[in-house]
Amino acid sequence: MSDKDCLFCKIITGEIPSEKVYEDDTTYAFKDINPKAKVHVLVVPREHYANVAELAAADPQQLAHMAQVAQNIADKEFHGAFRLIFNTGIDAGQTVFHVHAHVLTGEKLDE
Ligand code: 5GP
Ligand code: ZN
Repeated sequence: MSDKDCLFCKIITGEIPSEKVYEDDTTYAFKDINPKAKVHVLVVPREHYANVAELAAADPQQLAHMAQVAQNIADKEFHGAFRLIFNTGIDAGQTVFHVHAHVLTGEKLDE
């Protein structure tokens, strides 16, 4: 199910353009418009879930797959090292309410 008012649902369908990094039947990955590292990719399920807890409850396999997609991106971009972030809730900095994994890689990251 998608949400007609959701920015990332529109990116997944191509209604809003994005720089694709990877896609498969369930998952889409694209470059963050405001990168916080040399490589900053957002990995999203094609299905709309508001946040990581909702996704984990509904479809844990999809969440596991997103971790694997992140690993594959980091293997390609930076010998396998990466940081995976799910901001969850407004006060944690979540601004788009379609679950997305931030994958930061491509360079040594600050602690
Ligand atoms: P959040 O703050 O919800 O964890 O992350 C949302 C992310 O989406 C931010 O890092 C922001 O830069 C990115 N973003 C917001 N709008 C767009 C857009 O239209 N295109 C792309 N590629 N990224 C976006
Ligand atoms: Zn959505």
